[in-house]
Amino acid sequence: MPHLESFSKALKLIWVKKLLDPENMSAWKMLFLDQLKNINPDLVWCTNINEVIGSKPEMNIFWLDVFRAWGSLKKEERLGDIKAECLWYNKRLIVGKKVMHYKKWDDAGIRYVNDLLDNTGRLYSFAEFKLNTGIETNFLTYHGVIHAIPREWKTHIKNDRKKLQEIDNTLLTLIKSLKKPTRWAYKNYIKQQNEGINRQKPHQKWEEILGIRDIDWRYSFRNIFQVTKNTKLQAFQYKLLHRCTITNSKLFYFGIKPTKACTFCSLYSETIVHLFWDCLVVKSFWLEVAEWYKDITNVSINMNSELIILNGSACKTVNSLIIEAKYYIYICRCKEMSLDLNGFLRYLRKQINIECLAEETAVQKWAQILDNI
Ligand SMILES: [Zn+2]
Repeated sequence: MPHLESFSKALKLIWVKKLLDPENMSAWKMLFLDQLKNINPDLVWCTNINEVIGSKPEMNIFWLDVFRAWGSLKKEERLGDIKAECLWYNKRLIVGKKVMHYKKWDDAGIRYVNDLLDNTGRLYSFAEFKLNTGIETNFLTYHGVIHAIPREWKTHIKNDRKKLQEIDNTLLTLIKSLKKPTRWAYKNYIKQQNEGINRQKPHQKWEEILGIRDIDWRYSFRNIFQVTKNTKLQAFQYKLLHRCTITNSKLFYFGIKPTKACTFCSLYSETIVHLFWDCLVVKSFWLEVAEWYKDITNVSINMNSELIILNGSACKTVNSLIIEAKYYIYICRCKEMSLDLNGFLRYLRKQINIECLAEETAVQKWAQILDNI
């Protein structure tokens, strides 16, 4: 028996295809465009549809249903890069507690974060923005927009230093090209239904922080149990992915600690990503670990926040090493001990010995390290 809700949503997708067809000039389409008034029709398909709907409560109920059907497909579309995030009606970009839409900018073709970058991938200064886009705006408005871009996105932009040549609106292109979008959409709605599409908030937060929009969370969670059989480490990584790891920031928030400063550097607030990667003390520890590993195996580990938080290496030994080192960092934090490579190697030897006694396959996993520790 068909899933009626998915079936009904899939049927509505036909209307999206008709709206996108430039040759279709029917009267109903003109009426629809009239209802949009000051909203650029193209924008409707690029951004958070629910926010657009919210700004048009008078819109015909049928079109609201079509928008919602599109919105639930769009919500799950994976963008390769945060530079492809739409600036307008985007809940992640808030100015004065509201989503933004500057029609003048939109009409001039400024629609994505990418449009605020110069050719070298750097955010425009106010003067450069005015000069390059020809948009007459004031300093406060421009900096309001720049300020709305989350800090993590800015870090990603700064590190990436690449402007996208074009924004890949995969979903739009697909709907336009498909002869029978209903069938395709139905399959997708059913898939969403089965997978429980509502990704949890901690995962969205990690995606923001790491600047990645296509994290395969199923893989990340499955990976925990493949990397180690140690239930303590499994629970530790599980909590980390759910952002439940206790840090000074949290303890300060709950009134348990007098300061949220980092245990190791005392300079910055101890958030999860700071504790395991951003902190300079921790970063230099990771570099020491990578150097030591290269010395004994001749394999370089490209340490980065994604690898460390998600344990995303293709090599099981590297993943195991990283999870052990992360746990060691956490122990040092809890005991307020300083981080040092020798201390970690002593800890690692003990862990490896226990693991090898518990399971035979561990000997093979740690083979290269066992002789050098
Ligand atoms: Zn620190």
